[in-house]
Amino acid sequence: MASGPLPFGFRDAQRYYAFSRFLKERFGGKVRRIAVDGGFTCPNVDGTVTTGGCVYCDNRSFSPSRRAPRLGIRGQLERGIRIVQPRFGADRFLAYFQAATNTHAPLDKLKRLYDEALDHPQIVGLAIGTRPDSVPDEVLDLIAGYARERYVCLELGLQSIHDRSLDWMNRGHHYDVFLDAVARCAGRGFDVCAHVILGLPGESPADMLATADALAGLPLQAVKIHNLHVVRDTPLEAMVEHGEVHILERDEYVAILCDFLERLPGGMVIQRLQGDAPPDYLVAPQWCLDKPGLLRAVDDEMRRRDSWQGKYCQPTVASSTPVRRALPVVT
Ligand code: SF4
Repeated sequence: MASGPLPFGFRDAQRYYAFSRFLKERFGGKVRRIAVDGGFTCPNVDGTVTTGGCVYCDNRSFSPSRRAPRLGIRGQLERGIRIVQPRFGADRFLAYFQAATNTHAPLDKLKRLYDEALDHPQIVGLAIGTRPDSVPDEVLDLIAGYARERYVCLELGLQSIHDRSLDWMNRGHHYDVFLDAVARCAGRGFDVCAHVILGLPGESPADMLATADALAGLPLQAVKIHNLHVVRDTPLEAMVEHGEVHILERDEYVAILCDFLERLPGGMVIQRLQGDAPPDYLVAPQWCLDKPGLLRAVDDEMRRRDSWQGKYCQPTVASSTPVRRALPVVT
């Protein structure tokens, strides 16, 4: 039990700001995400930035919609709702543009796809996954327009504030590009969620916590935290096979994850606590397949420490000067 009342409305059983709680508070009931695939590519794959992609990336493993036969956006939503609605008892949904880089297309195509999703009567908002170098101002203006009437969350892949780690994973951008994107998103009325990975080779616990401290100092509303995990047929798989990369055991991950949560602001929504992939794509670690087990382990560890998200939050001021370096809108 907690030694006193917990801050930020946390319960003894869950000492971080879970996305499910946020959605309940925001919408007054159960809302779930439905992943849709707009058929986007990625500038890190199609040659706009480079062609290799991130070392851990296989888009089929990231998105259920890309593994299934292609339907239009409405068809994908209806198929997803048929599966998710009875399972979770939700009747409203966010359309989650998940696979690849979901702002990497001409503006009229983006508008058509986002409009099609929002036209569905059970869709109450959008989540849009993208890269920080792929959000030119015209795209942010479009997204801000939707955010005047609907909930919108823009998800920016950062992974780490350390440029050597970004280079190792072949992200094709550095931290300053992320800072620039966040600065240009701020105050536009939509939420911004940063994606990070813990357990990158060459990063010490102090390095990972420096990423938490940096996120704490930025105008972000949410974060998705992933453990480095290995998907079949990626460059990372070969590195692990050759013994070049250590993949965290679950206990190691839980310890650093709880340290990380303690450093984030208590009001920052935690949209995700681990990476995952379907069993036929996942190489390691196998503990990724037991998501409830990981969540229980985090809850247990936070209780054992009598700690909570935000307990040791010490935001750092961004040390890099933002640059205006977003890719131009695709034409
Ligand atoms: S930016 Fe995203 S979609 Fe593109 S290669 Fe990296 S992980 Fe894959």
